[in-house]
Amino acid sequence: MGAQQTFRLFINGEWVEPSKGGYAVVNPATEQVVGEAPEAGVDQVNDAAAAARDAFPAWSRTPPGERAEALQRLADVFERRIPDLVPLVQAETGATMRVAKTLQVTQCADRFRRYARLANENHDIPLPPSVMPNTALAKGGLIGAVVARQPVGVVACITPYNFPLTNMAGKVAPALAMGNTVVVKPAPQDPLAILRFAEAAEEAGLPPGVFNVVTGSGAEAGQALVEADIDMVSFTGSTPVGQRIAETAGRGMKRLLLELGGKGAGIVFDDADVAGAVAGIGSSWSFHSGQICTAPTRVIAHRDVHDELVDKLAAYAKFLKVGDPLADDTIVGPVITELQRDRVESLLDTGRQDGAEFVAGGVRPDLDSGFYVAPTLLTGVKNEWRVAQEEFFGPVVVVETFEDEDEAVALANGTPFGLYDYVWSADSVRAYRVARQLRSGNVGINTVQRNHEAPFGGFKLSGVGRDGGVFGLHAYSELQSIVFPS
Ligand code: NAP
Ligand code: MG
Repeated sequence: MGAQQTFRLFINGEWVEPSKGGYAVVNPATEQVVGEAPEAGVDQVNDAAAAARDAFPAWSRTPPGERAEALQRLADVFERRIPDLVPLVQAETGATMRVAKTLQVTQCADRFRRYARLANENHDIPLPPSVMPNTALAKGGLIGAVVARQPVGVVACITPYNFPLTNMAGKVAPALAMGNTVVVKPAPQDPLAILRFAEAAEEAGLPPGVFNVVTGSGAEAGQALVEADIDMVSFTGSTPVGQRIAETAGRGMKRLLLELGGKGAGIVFDDADVAGAVAGIGSSWSFHSGQICTAPTRVIAHRDVHDELVDKLAAYAKFLKVGDPLADDTIVGPVITELQRDRVESLLDTGRQDGAEFVAGGVRPDLDSGFYVAPTLLTGVKNEWRVAQEEFFGPVVVVETFEDEDEAVALANGTPFGLYDYVWSADSVRAYRVARQLRSGNVGINTVQRNHEAPFGGFKLSGVGRDGGVFGLHAYSELQSIVFPS
C-alpha cells in the first residue's frame, strides 16, 4: 500500500491534477511515506468554491427526502469501502487498529446516516399568531409567521488531524443535509482517506460541485479558501488559527462555526469512585495518544483523594504499552508528526523547569522509528504554569490540588479554554451544582462517554457555535422569518 496510490483534487465532480505538485504524507509510526497528497494552487481553491457556488441553487432546492437518500447512498458506498480505507487512515494517522477500525471509520458512516435521517424531518418552527394593532405601517389583525431554516450557502469545511474522516463527516453530513454545498480542506498531515472518501461521493452520485476536496501542505490552501467566495467557515483546529480565520471571515461577514482547543479540567472530589475517575482520566493517554481536544488532561484533585488518585493513575500509565500501532497489545501509538512530538517535549520541559514532579513518563520511548511520547503524569502543578494553561495534544496529564468546592471551580475555569470539563463525585447534587458553575461548553459527570445528540462546542477561546445531533443541522442554517396574515 502507499506510494503507488495516486491522489488528486476533487473539484466539480472531476479528478484534477494539482497545479503545484504533491507532498509526502508520512506514517507517524514507521516514518515511511504513505502517499503523495496534492498541493492545490490558489486558483484551484477558487475553482472549488466556484463549483460549490454553482451547485448550490439546485442542491438547496432538492427535496429533503432526495438529499437524505443521497446521504444514505454515500454512507452505503463508504461502508463497503471501509476495509480498504482502514489501512490507509491507520497509516496516515498512526492510530492503533482499535481506534482505526472504530472511531476513524464507523463514526464517519454513522454521522452520514444520522444526518440523512434528520434531513428528512421538517426543521421549520411554527409560531402562534400574534394580534397586531393598527399601526402607521400597516393595518392590524392576526399575523402569523413561520421560521424557516435556510441553508447558509457554500460552506468551507476545514478540519484538523486526528480523526480526519470523522471530523469531516461531522461537518459535511449536516451541511449537505441542510442543503448547503461544501469545499473540504483536510489537515495536511492526514488528508488521504478524505480524498478516497471523495470517490465514494462520486460513486454515490452526488451532483458535481456539491462536495469538493482541496488539499495542501501549508496554510495557503486553507487561507485561500477562507478568502474565497464562500458563505461560511466551519473550522475545527487550534485556537490561534481559529482567531486568524475569524478575523478574515469577519470582513466578509462569513458565518462561523469554530471548534477550537481545549484543556479539559477533571475535578475529582474526595467521595469519587477513584477507579472510575482513573479510567476516565486514563483515556487522555490511551485514546489516540491524547490527540483529542476533549480529554480530561488537567486533573483537579481534592487533597484528601490526591495521593490515592495519583498512585492509581501512575500504575495505570505504566501499564499502557507504547509502540507499533499495528500490534494487538499496543495502547499508545505515536503522535502525528516529529514537530508535534517536539512541541509536547518542549512544553514538558517548561513543567520540569517550573518544578513539576514527573510521576510517570517524561522520557522519550526508545523505539526504532516513529514519533512517540510516553504516557506522562505531572503532579504538584500550579495553575499558572504553562503545562496547566496550554494544550499538549499528546498523552500528558497534569495534576493540581484543591481544598474546597469554590477553589475547584476557580481552578477549572482558570484557563482561556472552555471546551469539555468533568466532575467525579458520588454526590450528584454537588456534581450538578459544580457543573453549572463551569465555563465550559460540555461537562461530563462521572463519565467521559459522549451523547451524540447533545450540542457540542466551546465557551471562551474554545470556539463559537455548536454542532452535534440536530444542533449540527441548525449550525448550517440561517433563520428566515416568513410573516403573513392568518
Ligand atoms: P491547526 O493547526 O489549527 O489546523 C487545522 C486546520 O486549519 C488544518 O487543515 C490547517 O491546515 C488549517 N489552517 C492553518 N492555518 C490556516 C489559515 N490561516 N486559514 C485557514 N486554514 C488554516 O490544528 P491541528 O494542529 O490540525 O489540530 C490540533 C488542534 O485542533 C488542537 O488545538 C485541538 O484542540 C484542535 N481540535 C479541536 C477539536 C474540537 O472539536 N474543538 C477537535 C479536534 C481538534 P495547514 O496546517 O495546512 O495550515
Ligand atoms: Mg497545523
